[in-house]
Amino acid sequence: MEIIKEGPKGVTEEGRKVATARCVEYKEAIQDYLDAKKNIPCGLDLTEKNKEQKQKILSVLNGSEKDWNDWKWQVKNMIRDVETLSKIFPLSEDEKKQIEEVGKEVRWGVSPYYASLIDPDDPNCPVRMQSIPSIQEALDPSIVTEPETILYNSPAPCITRLYPDRLIINVTNACSMFCRHCLRRRDIGFENIRYAKESIKDALSYIRENTEIRDVLLTGGDALMVSDEYLDWILSELDSIDHVEIKRLGTRTPVVLPMRITDEFCEMLEKHGTIYLNTQFNHSKEITETSAEAIKKLTKAGVLVGNQTVLLKGINADKHIMKKLMQDALRIRVKPYYIFHCKKLEGIRHFRAHIEDGLEIMEYLRGYTSGLAIPTYIITAPSGRGKTPVNPNYILNTNVDGQVLFRTWGGHVMKYDNER
Ligand SMILES: *Cc1c(COP(=O)(O)O)cnc(C)c1O
Ligand code: SF4
Repeated sequence: MEIIKEGPKGVTEEGRKVATARCVEYKEAIQDYLDAKKNIPCGLDLTEKNKEQKQKILSVLNGSEKDWNDWKWQVKNMIRDVETLSKIFPLSEDEKKQIEEVGKEVRWGVSPYYASLIDPDDPNCPVRMQSIPSIQEALDPSIVTEPETILYNSPAPCITRLYPDRLIINVTNACSMFCRHCLRRRDIGFENIRYAKESIKDALSYIRENTEIRDVLLTGGDALMVSDEYLDWILSELDSIDHVEIKRLGTRTPVVLPMRITDEFCEMLEKHGTIYLNTQFNHSKEITETSAEAIKKLTKAGVLVGNQTVLLKGINADKHIMKKLMQDALRIRVKPYYIFHCKKLEGIRHFRAHIEDGLEIMEYLRGYTSGLAIPTYIITAPSGRGKTPVNPNYILNTNVDGQVLFRTWGGHVMKYDNER
């Protein structure tokens, strides 16, 4: 083998100069991000601050360290009244009244763990905005819901099918938190519903009969809000169907209730072939050591973890915040999968960004950061017509003398030979 002093072969002195100049451009291209990033809090750096809040919450709820790590304790002790909440962080009389008013209309509740991530001094804390009702929910008079999505897309009990080869089984309406931006806020009601085993059996029969279904998503609600035994049963049934190649779980527990991911749970999942789990991190503050540990356990069990962010005004509808979130997700082995544009629904319009905001975010991901950090930006078509990607346009003209005119991520307009 020939050994040369420096690689790659063929770089001239002139070439080195050009490369060095280009690298100056690369650095400049992300300088604004590097500056902004310093002020975007990440849960991995906030461990001490979160620990203090955790101790406070434990003492308010009379819990122990062991309780804290027990997801059933977390669920049982979900914070859902203003009195308890106000012992954890300060609330004005007005705020208390407003939370109570909204709470009469739509359920709210936050796990002690997720509450410990709220910055007590910041009324606009992204964790708080996702979990604690705001009066804007009640003030929003629009009622633009989409019953036809449910009405026209359920060919069998508990099933939602919008696509040729995959479908959803809804196992429960229960959630580990009632996200303020939830698109299913009307289904959440005031009580948890677990669909009868009979209905799940009907759903499984439908899958057995329709051999083109190769991908089954278990969701709800939150697929992990049912017991390990119950999920084990559904997954075993799916394993017994030859044409089901992969299974997916939709759950927010790694974000709001990471202690749900126990060793026993992971051992159970490991028995069931290929499983993808999609969760929903919406801000870097949610990326914590506890979450990281939960994800690590899942990956050890062979589960691949993806992230479906919702684009939310005031939370993550910002090119720097979103980029940091995507990068922080990768740090804990979570692959960004989708960014969903927020639908126009009653009570959540204050969270809505414009599609232009989403496009700007996508523009500042491609090229500027790892391709791994780039999800697909999706608008959900009305009437259940499916997820539709929206992208910045890189092709400027498809035929300029047989060539395709395009622009690069860095803004260079170039031609690409499209002839054979
Ligand atoms: C989102 C969704 C899927 C999965 O879509 P992918 O693009 O494959 O992730 C399947 N079925 C329904 C009803 C869905 O809403
Ligand atoms: S976890 Fe999902 S379904 Fe449940 S409240 Fe949050 S957004 Fe809605």
